[in-house]
Amino acid sequence: MTTTGVWTDLIGQDRVVETLQRAVGAAAAGGNRHAMTHAWLLTGPPGSGRSNAARAFAAALQCPAGGCGECNTCTTALSGAHPDVTLVRTEALSIGVDEVRELVRRAAMSPTLGRYQVLVVEDADRITERGADALLKSVEEPAPRTVWLLCAPTADDVVVTIRSRCRLVELSTPSTSAIAELLQRRDGVEPELARFAARVAQGHIGRARALARNEAVRERRQDILRLPGRLTSLGACLKAAASLVDAAGEEASQLTADLDAREKAELSEALGFTTKGARPRNAQAALRDLEDQQKARVKRIQRDALDRVLTELTSFYRDVLTVQTGAGAPLINAEFAEAIGRLAHETPPEATVVKLDAILACRTALETNVAPLLAMESLMLSLAGIG
Ligand SMILES: [Zn+2]
Repeated sequence: MTTTGVWTDLIGQDRVVETLQRAVGAAAAGGNRHAMTHAWLLTGPPGSGRSNAARAFAAALQCPAGGCGECNTCTTALSGAHPDVTLVRTEALSIGVDEVRELVRRAAMSPTLGRYQVLVVEDADRITERGADALLKSVEEPAPRTVWLLCAPTADDVVVTIRSRCRLVELSTPSTSAIAELLQRRDGVEPELARFAARVAQGHIGRARALARNEAVRERRQDILRLPGRLTSLGACLKAAASLVDAAGEEASQLTADLDAREKAELSEALGFTTKGARPRNAQAALRDLEDQQKARVKRIQRDALDRVLTELTSFYRDVLTVQTGAGAPLINAEFAEAIGRLAHETPPEATVVKLDAILACRTALETNVAPLLAMESLMLSLAGIG
């Protein structure tokens, strides 16, 4: 199947595209409530393209040609600039009741230009229980022209009362060859580099793209994969943990510094700090709120960076296990075959399983807000067999 228009970059998701296109067709043909569902939950592993799918669907619903990908409606809907498409991307760790109420208010409004009022919530798994309560009625009985598109890694990640009222669309992990093809076609990446990036990214499109286009990202990956061979003493473990956490912190501040300053300037201006005259009494509180949100964002980006470290390490020890069990499957990190082979022969498979468990435990610890340095130190010790 060839997909065109707004669907072009959704690779390896033919079934999903077919379902969504059929809904767009039904909506165009009269949009009766049985043919066109008004609350959707799009799930898929990170990097599989679930939020891209949601945005493409939003554009296709608004576009007079059903998602041509070229008209003004399509481009503004995809970028989030369309007045009747609201894209909610949060940097915070949760979406609370106030934010949800604001969305619900918006959902009840008639579309100004488009055919639908579309609300895309990219991280619906972050909606709190109280937020879910506020959302329930709008999802259950939406205004006639309102469409909710919720995205999450899996259906289980979303509050049950919400997910039971949505139509579920599941994206799968795109294949290595599909990702390599996309990198060549869309980003003009050389075939060999595209295949390499697709293989080591293990189905994560954004990660593959970053690896293909950015030398520094490739070097960083190499550094991480060299780590297991260097964990030879307690001191080496602690040093490795500290440098991983520092690098993640630095990445986060680099990514957010400009954005932080711009947001602060915009808010100050909006609050009247830059002009003479009376300021709203709660202006200081608003600025403090913004600073809190910015801190939360830095923390989240740092955590995401550490999460990528864990993903790389997992792939390394999975390769070790592949060699140990003689499964014969191709290695993800083929260029590290020597180090992988050495470790595979020096340690028993049981030890590798323990290490993979330790990585999983570290991920859980980071999710539950354990101090990153503590979590990484404990992991490095486990990987060295010291912990
Ligand atoms: Zn269009």
